[in-house]
Amino acid sequence: MMVTTGEKKAGPLRTVVFNGRVMAPGGDIEDGVVVIDGGRISFVGPAAAWREGGGEAAAVRIDAEGGWICPGFVDIHVHGGGGADVMDADPDALRTLARTHARYGTTSFLATTVTAPHEKLLEVAEVVARMAGRPGHPAGGAPTGGAQLLGLHLEGPYINPRRAGAQNPAHMRPPNLRELEQLYEVLGSAWRIITIAPELPGAEAAVRWLARRGVLVSMGHTDATHDEARAAVAAGVRHATHLFNAMRGWHHRDPGCIGAVLDDDRVGAEIVADGEHVHPSALRLAYRLKGPERLCLVTDCIRALDMPDGVYRLGDVDVLVRDGRARLAGREDALAGSLLTMSGAVRAMVRLAGVPLRQAVTMASLNPARAAGVARAKGTLEPGKDGDVVVLDDDLAVRAVVVAGQVVYSR
Ligand SMILES: [Zn+2]
Repeated sequence: MMVTTGEKKAGPLRTVVFNGRVMAPGGDIEDGVVVIDGGRISFVGPAAAWREGGGEAAAVRIDAEGGWICPGFVDIHVHGGGGADVMDADPDALRTLARTHARYGTTSFLATTVTAPHEKLLEVAEVVARMAGRPGHPAGGAPTGGAQLLGLHLEGPYINPRRAGAQNPAHMRPPNLRELEQLYEVLGSAWRIITIAPELPGAEAAVRWLARRGVLVSMGHTDATHDEARAAVAAGVRHATHLFNAMRGWHHRDPGCIGAVLDDDRVGAEIVADGEHVHPSALRLAYRLKGPERLCLVTDCIRALDMPDGVYRLGDVDVLVRDGRARLAGREDALAGSLLTMSGAVRAMVRLAGVPLRQAVTMASLNPARAAGVARAKGTLEPGKDGDVVVLDDDLAVRAVVVAGQVVYSR
Protein backbone atom coordinates (compact mmCIF):
# COMPACT_ATOMS: atom_id res chain seq x y z
CA MET A 1 0.00 0.00 0.00
CA MET A 2 1.34 3.33 -1.07
CA VAL A 3 0.47 6.34 1.00
CA THR A 4 2.28 9.48 -0.06
CA THR A 5 2.24 12.69 1.87
CA GLY A 6 2.89 15.68 -0.36
CA GLU A 7 3.07 19.41 0.05
CA LYS A 8 0.63 20.68 2.59
CA LYS A 9 -1.16 23.56 0.94
CA ALA A 10 -3.00 26.24 2.80
CA GLY A 11 -6.63 25.32 3.39
CA PRO A 12 -8.29 22.10 4.47
CA LEU A 13 -6.57 18.73 4.14
CA ARG A 14 -7.09 17.11 0.74
CA THR A 15 -6.87 13.31 0.45
CA VAL A 16 -7.03 11.41 -2.83
CA VAL A 17 -7.63 7.66 -3.15
CA PHE A 18 -6.83 6.50 -6.70
CA ASN A 19 -5.88 3.59 -8.97
CA GLY A 20 -8.72 1.26 -7.97
CA ARG A 21 -12.29 0.22 -8.78
CA VAL A 22 -14.55 2.63 -6.95
CA MET A 23 -17.73 1.07 -5.60
CA ALA A 24 -19.96 4.07 -6.29
CA PRO A 25 -23.76 4.05 -5.78
CA GLY A 26 -24.47 4.05 -9.51
CA GLY A 27 -22.04 1.23 -10.34
CA ASP A 28 -18.36 0.40 -10.27
CA ILE A 29 -15.92 2.93 -11.69
CA GLU A 30 -12.81 1.32 -13.19
CA ASP A 31 -9.70 3.41 -12.57
CA GLY A 32 -11.70 5.64 -10.27
CA VAL A 33 -10.79 8.37 -7.84
CA VAL A 34 -12.27 9.51 -4.53
CA VAL A 35 -11.27 12.98 -3.34
CA ILE A 36 -11.82 14.16 0.22
CA ASP A 37 -11.55 17.81 1.18
CA GLY A 38 -11.69 18.90 4.78
CA GLY A 39 -13.10 15.54 5.85
CA ARG A 40 -15.89 15.37 3.26
CA ILE A 41 -16.02 13.67 -0.11
CA SER A 42 -15.73 16.30 -2.86
CA PHE A 43 -15.36 14.13 -5.97
CA VAL A 44 -16.11 10.53 -7.02
CA GLY A 45 -15.46 9.57 -10.63
CA PRO A 46 -13.06 8.31 -13.29
CA ALA A 47 -9.41 9.32 -13.01
CA ALA A 48 -9.54 10.97 -16.45
CA ALA A 49 -12.26 13.38 -15.38
CA TRP A 50 -10.37 14.19 -12.21
CA ARG A 51 -7.17 15.05 -14.14
CA GLU A 52 -9.10 17.14 -16.66
CA GLY A 53 -10.51 19.12 -13.77
CA GLY A 54 -6.90 19.98 -12.96
CA GLY A 55 -7.12 18.45 -9.50
CA GLU A 56 -3.69 16.92 -9.10
CA ALA A 57 -2.36 18.47 -5.92
CA ALA A 58 -3.21 16.62 -2.73
CA ALA A 59 -1.66 16.46 0.69
CA VAL A 60 -2.25 12.71 1.02
CA ARG A 61 -2.35 10.27 -1.92
CA ILE A 62 -3.43 6.67 -1.42
CA ASP A 63 -2.64 4.28 -4.25
CA ALA A 64 -5.22 1.47 -4.17
CA GLU A 65 -3.00 -0.62 -6.48
CA GLY A 66 -5.92 -1.95 -8.50
CA GLY A 67 -8.00 -2.95 -5.46
CA TRP A 68 -11.53 -2.01 -4.46
CA ILE A 69 -12.25 1.47 -3.15
CA CYS A 70 -15.34 1.02 -0.92
CA PRO A 71 -17.43 3.08 1.48
CA GLY A 72 -16.27 2.74 5.08
CA PHE A 73 -17.91 0.04 7.18
CA VAL A 74 -20.35 0.93 9.95
CA ASP A 75 -20.54 -1.55 12.84
CA ILE A 76 -23.77 -1.09 14.78
CA HIS A 77 -23.10 -3.93 17.22
CA VAL A 78 -19.61 -4.10 18.74
CA HIS A 79 -18.65 -4.58 22.38
CA GLY A 80 -14.89 -4.43 22.29
CA GLY A 81 -11.52 -5.20 20.75
CA GLY A 82 -7.80 -4.87 21.46
CA GLY A 83 -8.38 -5.74 25.13
CA ALA A 84 -10.91 -2.92 25.63
CA ASP A 85 -14.67 -3.12 26.23
CA VAL A 86 -17.46 -0.54 26.11
CA MET A 87 -18.45 -1.59 29.63
CA ASP A 88 -15.08 -0.36 30.92
CA ALA A 89 -16.80 3.08 30.80
CA ASP A 90 -13.46 4.58 29.91
CA PRO A 91 -12.59 6.98 27.04
CA ASP A 92 -9.28 5.18 26.53
CA ALA A 93 -11.11 1.87 26.11
CA LEU A 94 -13.34 3.40 23.42
CA ARG A 95 -10.28 4.77 21.62
CA THR A 96 -8.59 1.35 21.73
CA LEU A 97 -11.74 -0.29 20.36
CA ALA A 98 -11.98 2.36 17.61
CA ARG A 99 -8.37 1.91 16.54
CA THR A 100 -8.47 -1.89 16.70
CA HIS A 101 -11.55 -2.20 14.49
CA ALA A 102 -10.36 0.49 12.06
CA ARG A 103 -7.70 -1.97 10.89
CA TYR A 104 -10.55 -4.15 9.62
CA GLY A 105 -12.42 -1.45 7.73
CA THR A 106 -14.71 -0.07 10.44
CA THR A 107 -14.85 3.71 10.00
CA SER A 108 -17.72 4.37 12.41
CA PHE A 109 -19.51 2.36 15.08
CA LEU A 110 -22.05 2.21 17.85
CA ALA A 111 -20.60 1.35 21.25
CA THR A 112 -22.68 -1.60 22.41
CA THR A 113 -23.44 -2.38 26.04
CA VAL A 114 -24.36 -5.64 27.77
CA THR A 115 -26.85 -6.27 30.55
CA ALA A 116 -25.78 -4.50 33.74
CA PRO A 117 -27.22 -2.58 36.70
CA HIS A 118 -28.80 0.74 35.72
CA GLU A 119 -26.12 2.86 37.43
CA LYS A 120 -23.40 1.10 35.44
CA LEU A 121 -25.25 1.68 32.16
CA LEU A 122 -25.67 5.37 33.01
CA GLU A 123 -21.94 5.61 33.60
CA VAL A 124 -21.21 4.04 30.18
CA ALA A 125 -23.83 6.28 28.53
CA GLU A 126 -22.16 9.38 29.95
CA VAL A 127 -18.78 8.43 28.48
CA VAL A 128 -20.32 7.59 25.09
CA ALA A 129 -22.38 10.80 25.00
CA ARG A 130 -19.27 12.85 25.75
CA MET A 131 -17.23 11.22 22.99
CA ALA A 132 -19.79 10.64 20.24
CA GLY A 133 -19.50 12.65 17.04
CA ARG A 134 -22.32 13.84 14.87
CA PRO A 135 -22.49 12.40 11.35
CA GLY A 136 -21.97 15.10 8.75
CA HIS A 137 -19.39 16.69 11.04
CA PRO A 138 -16.55 14.45 9.92
CA ALA A 139 -14.14 15.70 12.54
CA GLY A 140 -16.87 15.78 15.20
CA GLY A 141 -16.65 13.98 18.47
CA ALA A 142 -13.55 13.11 20.42
CA PRO A 143 -10.71 12.03 18.10
CA THR A 144 -10.08 8.30 18.43
CA GLY A 145 -7.24 7.81 15.94
CA GLY A 146 -9.52 5.19 14.37
CA ALA A 147 -13.21 4.73 13.69
CA GLN A 148 -15.66 7.50 14.61
CA LEU A 149 -17.94 6.82 17.56
CA LEU A 150 -21.52 7.59 16.50
CA GLY A 151 -23.40 6.72 19.66
CA LEU A 152 -24.82 3.86 21.68
CA HIS A 153 -26.53 0.55 21.07
CA LEU A 154 -28.07 -0.51 24.37
CA GLU A 155 -28.22 -4.33 24.28
CA GLY A 156 -30.04 -5.39 27.41
CA PRO A 157 -30.89 -5.25 30.27
CA TYR A 158 -34.53 -5.36 29.06
CA ILE A 159 -34.18 -8.80 27.54
CA ASN A 160 -35.44 -12.29 28.30
CA PRO A 161 -33.37 -14.47 30.69
CA ARG A 162 -34.62 -17.50 28.72
CA ARG A 163 -32.57 -16.20 25.78
CA ALA A 164 -29.71 -14.76 27.81
CA GLY A 165 -26.90 -15.90 25.53
CA ALA A 166 -23.66 -14.74 27.14
CA GLN A 167 -25.33 -11.97 29.17
CA ASN A 168 -25.90 -12.15 32.89
CA PRO A 169 -29.56 -13.07 33.65
CA ALA A 170 -29.22 -11.69 37.18
CA HIS A 171 -29.52 -8.11 35.90
CA MET A 172 -32.20 -8.72 33.25
CA ARG A 173 -35.50 -7.00 33.93
CA PRO A 174 -38.63 -5.69 32.24
CA PRO A 175 -38.34 -2.22 30.64
CA ASN A 176 -38.61 0.65 33.09
CA LEU A 177 -39.72 4.03 31.73
CA ARG A 178 -37.98 5.99 34.46
CA GLU A 179 -34.65 4.32 33.60
CA LEU A 180 -35.23 4.91 29.89
CA GLU A 181 -35.88 8.59 30.58
CA GLN A 182 -32.63 8.90 32.54
CA LEU A 183 -30.63 7.20 29.78
CA TYR A 184 -32.25 9.38 27.14
CA GLU A 185 -31.50 12.49 29.14
CA VAL A 186 -27.81 11.57 29.07
CA LEU A 187 -27.65 10.34 25.47
CA GLY A 188 -30.24 12.26 23.45
CA SER A 189 -29.71 11.56 19.75
CA ALA A 190 -26.51 9.62 20.51
CA TRP A 191 -28.84 6.80 21.59
CA ARG A 192 -29.31 5.14 18.23
CA ILE A 193 -30.41 1.55 18.86
CA ILE A 194 -31.90 -0.49 21.70
CA THR A 195 -32.25 -4.27 21.79
CA ILE A 196 -35.34 -5.29 23.70
CA ALA A 197 -37.38 -8.47 24.23
CA PRO A 198 -40.87 -7.32 23.24
CA GLU A 199 -42.71 -10.04 25.18
CA LEU A 200 -41.62 -8.61 28.56
CA PRO A 201 -44.22 -6.79 30.66
CA GLY A 202 -44.28 -3.09 29.84
CA ALA A 203 -42.32 -3.56 26.62
CA GLU A 204 -45.03 -2.19 24.35
CA ALA A 205 -45.12 1.19 26.12
CA ALA A 206 -41.31 1.27 26.06
CA VAL A 207 -41.20 0.48 22.33
CA ARG A 208 -43.64 3.33 21.57
CA TRP A 209 -41.75 5.73 23.85
CA LEU A 210 -38.38 4.92 22.23
CA ALA A 211 -39.64 4.88 18.64
CA ARG A 212 -41.15 8.36 19.14
CA ARG A 213 -37.71 9.63 20.14
CA GLY A 214 -35.99 8.20 17.07
CA VAL A 215 -34.25 5.29 18.78
CA LEU A 216 -34.31 2.25 16.49
CA VAL A 217 -35.99 -0.53 18.45
CA SER A 218 -34.57 -3.95 17.67
CA MET A 219 -35.92 -7.22 19.05
CA GLY A 220 -33.35 -9.61 20.38
CA HIS A 221 -32.49 -11.98 23.21
CA THR A 222 -36.19 -12.73 22.90
CA ASP A 223 -38.52 -15.66 23.35
CA ALA A 224 -41.34 -13.87 21.49
CA THR A 225 -43.89 -16.00 19.73
CA HIS A 226 -44.93 -15.03 16.23
CA ASP A 227 -47.98 -13.14 17.50
CA GLU A 228 -45.90 -11.27 20.10
CA ALA A 229 -43.30 -10.33 17.51
CA ARG A 230 -46.01 -9.14 15.08
CA ALA A 231 -47.53 -7.00 17.82
CA ALA A 232 -44.09 -5.57 18.55
CA VAL A 233 -43.69 -4.53 14.92
CA ALA A 234 -47.12 -2.89 15.07
CA ALA A 235 -45.89 -0.94 18.12
CA GLY A 236 -42.76 0.27 16.32
CA VAL A 237 -40.04 -2.41 16.36
CA ARG A 238 -38.16 -2.17 13.06
CA HIS A 239 -35.08 -4.33 13.50
CA ALA A 240 -33.82 -7.63 14.86
CA THR A 241 -30.59 -8.16 16.78
CA HIS A 242 -28.23 -10.89 15.56
CA LEU A 243 -30.98 -12.67 13.63
CA PHE A 244 -31.33 -16.37 14.55
CA ASN A 245 -29.06 -16.09 17.63
CA ALA A 246 -30.68 -15.79 21.07
CA MET A 247 -34.23 -16.05 19.67
CA ARG A 248 -36.95 -18.68 19.78
CA GLY A 249 -36.34 -21.08 16.88
CA TRP A 250 -38.38 -21.18 13.69
CA HIS A 251 -41.16 -23.74 13.48
CA HIS A 252 -43.74 -23.94 10.73
CA ARG A 253 -46.59 -23.90 13.27
CA ASP A 254 -44.96 -21.20 15.39
CA PRO A 255 -42.58 -19.24 13.16
CA GLY A 256 -41.71 -17.09 16.19
CA CYS A 257 -39.72 -13.88 16.09
CA ILE A 258 -37.58 -15.23 13.25
CA GLY A 259 -40.65 -15.76 11.06
CA ALA A 260 -41.98 -12.30 11.87
CA VAL A 261 -38.64 -10.76 10.84
CA LEU A 262 -38.12 -12.76 7.65
CA ASP A 263 -41.73 -12.25 6.56
CA ASP A 264 -42.05 -8.47 6.99
CA ASP A 265 -40.35 -5.86 4.79
CA ARG A 266 -40.67 -3.20 7.47
CA VAL A 267 -38.15 -5.04 9.60
CA GLY A 268 -34.38 -5.04 9.04
CA ALA A 269 -31.92 -7.34 10.76
CA GLU A 270 -28.35 -7.68 11.90
CA ILE A 271 -26.53 -10.91 11.29
CA VAL A 272 -23.24 -12.30 12.64
CA ALA A 273 -21.57 -13.68 9.51
CA ASP A 274 -18.60 -15.55 10.92
CA GLY A 275 -19.69 -18.95 9.60
CA GLU A 276 -20.17 -20.17 13.16
CA HIS A 277 -23.01 -18.16 14.74
CA VAL A 278 -25.18 -18.78 11.69
CA HIS A 279 -24.88 -21.66 9.21
CA PRO A 280 -23.98 -20.52 5.68
CA SER A 281 -27.33 -21.83 4.46
CA ALA A 282 -29.13 -19.66 7.03
CA LEU A 283 -27.00 -16.69 5.91
CA ARG A 284 -28.22 -17.29 2.37
CA LEU A 285 -31.81 -17.72 3.54
CA ALA A 286 -31.69 -14.42 5.41
CA TYR A 287 -30.15 -12.73 2.38
CA ARG A 288 -32.81 -14.11 0.06
CA LEU A 289 -35.70 -13.12 2.30
CA LYS A 290 -34.52 -9.76 3.64
CA GLY A 291 -32.82 -8.77 0.38
CA PRO A 292 -29.60 -6.80 0.10
CA GLU A 293 -31.25 -3.63 1.48
CA ARG A 294 -32.35 -4.85 4.91
CA LEU A 295 -29.56 -7.02 6.23
CA CYS A 296 -26.73 -5.47 8.29
CA LEU A 297 -23.42 -7.20 8.91
CA VAL A 298 -22.30 -6.74 12.51
CA THR A 299 -19.36 -8.14 14.46
CA ASP A 300 -20.79 -8.53 18.00
CA CYS A 301 -17.06 -8.56 18.75
CA ILE A 302 -15.72 -8.75 22.30
CA ARG A 303 -12.53 -7.35 23.82
CA ALA A 304 -10.42 -10.41 22.94
CA LEU A 305 -9.98 -9.40 19.28
CA ASP A 306 -6.24 -9.16 18.49
CA MET A 307 -5.41 -10.54 21.95
CA PRO A 308 -3.87 -13.87 22.98
CA ASP A 309 -6.05 -16.85 23.98
CA GLY A 310 -7.25 -16.74 27.56
CA VAL A 311 -10.15 -15.75 29.80
CA TYR A 312 -11.77 -12.34 29.26
CA ARG A 313 -14.56 -10.41 30.95
CA LEU A 314 -17.76 -9.64 29.01
CA GLY A 315 -19.86 -7.52 31.34
CA ASP A 316 -19.58 -9.60 34.48
CA VAL A 317 -19.27 -13.04 32.94
CA ASP A 318 -16.06 -14.87 31.99
CA VAL A 319 -15.45 -15.78 28.37
CA LEU A 320 -12.93 -18.40 27.32
CA VAL A 321 -11.12 -17.56 24.08
CA ARG A 322 -9.30 -20.33 22.27
CA ASP A 323 -8.38 -20.75 18.59
CA GLY A 324 -10.34 -17.68 17.53
CA ARG A 325 -13.53 -18.79 19.30
CA ALA A 326 -15.28 -17.21 22.28
CA ARG A 327 -17.35 -19.41 24.64
CA LEU A 328 -18.86 -18.96 28.07
CA ALA A 329 -16.28 -20.28 30.53
CA GLY A 330 -17.47 -23.65 31.84
CA ARG A 331 -20.20 -23.91 29.17
CA GLU A 332 -18.33 -24.45 25.99
CA ASP A 333 -21.46 -25.12 23.96
CA ALA A 334 -22.45 -21.46 24.46
CA LEU A 335 -21.15 -18.85 22.03
CA ALA A 336 -20.16 -15.66 23.82
CA GLY A 337 -19.93 -12.82 21.36
CA SER A 338 -17.44 -13.20 18.56
CA LEU A 339 -13.97 -12.32 17.36
CA LEU A 340 -15.38 -11.27 14.02
CA THR A 341 -14.32 -8.16 12.13
CA MET A 342 -16.28 -6.19 9.54
CA SER A 343 -13.92 -7.19 6.70
CA GLY A 344 -14.19 -10.80 7.92
CA ALA A 345 -17.99 -10.56 7.76
CA VAL A 346 -17.85 -9.20 4.20
CA ARG A 347 -15.53 -12.05 3.19
CA ALA A 348 -17.83 -14.62 4.82
CA MET A 349 -20.89 -13.29 2.99
CA VAL A 350 -19.02 -13.54 -0.32
CA ARG A 351 -17.24 -16.86 0.24
CA LEU A 352 -19.63 -18.82 2.47
CA ALA A 353 -22.97 -17.37 1.39
CA GLY A 354 -22.09 -16.61 -2.24
CA VAL A 355 -23.33 -13.01 -2.06
CA PRO A 356 -21.90 -10.62 -4.68
CA LEU A 357 -19.21 -8.31 -3.23
CA ARG A 358 -21.17 -5.12 -3.93
CA GLN A 359 -24.14 -6.42 -1.92
CA ALA A 360 -21.91 -7.64 0.91
CA VAL A 361 -20.28 -4.19 1.11
CA THR A 362 -23.72 -2.53 1.12
CA MET A 363 -24.66 -4.73 4.07
CA ALA A 364 -21.54 -3.48 5.86
CA SER A 365 -21.94 0.20 4.99
CA LEU A 366 -25.21 1.70 3.73
CA ASN A 367 -27.62 -0.65 5.53
CA PRO A 368 -26.09 -0.21 8.99
CA ALA A 369 -25.75 3.54 8.31
CA ARG A 370 -29.51 3.60 7.69
CA ALA A 371 -30.21 1.55 10.81
CA ALA A 372 -28.13 3.96 12.88
CA GLY A 373 -29.90 6.93 11.29
CA VAL A 374 -26.71 8.34 9.74
CA ALA A 375 -27.18 7.49 6.04
CA ARG A 376 -27.22 11.16 5.04
CA ALA A 377 -23.53 11.33 5.98
CA LYS A 378 -22.31 7.73 5.85
CA GLY A 379 -22.65 4.48 3.92
CA THR A 380 -21.87 5.41 0.28
CA LEU A 381 -19.15 7.16 -1.68
CA GLU A 382 -20.91 10.35 -2.77
CA PRO A 383 -19.89 14.01 -2.76
CA GLY A 384 -21.00 15.70 0.44
CA LYS A 385 -20.80 12.58 2.60
CA ASP A 386 -18.11 12.00 5.21
CA GLY A 387 -14.75 10.96 3.78
CA ASP A 388 -14.78 7.39 5.11
CA VAL A 389 -13.12 4.91 2.72
CA VAL A 390 -11.89 1.31 2.85
CA VAL A 391 -9.47 -0.09 0.27
CA LEU A 392 -9.73 -3.88 -0.19
CA ASP A 393 -7.37 -6.06 -2.20
CA ASP A 394 -8.52 -8.90 -4.46
CA ASP A 395 -8.51 -11.30 -1.47
CA LEU A 396 -10.87 -8.84 0.27
CA ALA A 397 -8.28 -8.03 2.91
CA VAL A 398 -8.04 -4.43 4.10
CA ARG A 399 -5.23 -2.40 2.54
CA ALA A 400 -6.05 1.09 3.79
CA VAL A 401 -8.69 2.83 5.85
CA VAL A 402 -9.53 6.52 5.75
CA VAL A 403 -11.76 8.25 8.32
CA ALA A 404 -12.83 11.82 7.51
CA GLY A 405 -9.92 12.10 5.09
CA GLN A 406 -7.31 10.90 7.61
CA VAL A 407 -5.44 7.65 6.96
CA VAL A 408 -6.02 5.61 10.13
CA TYR A 409 -4.59 2.37 8.77
CA SER A 410 -2.45 1.28 5.85
CA ARG A 411 -0.71 -1.99 5.19
ZN1 LIG B 1 -23.91 -8.23 21.52
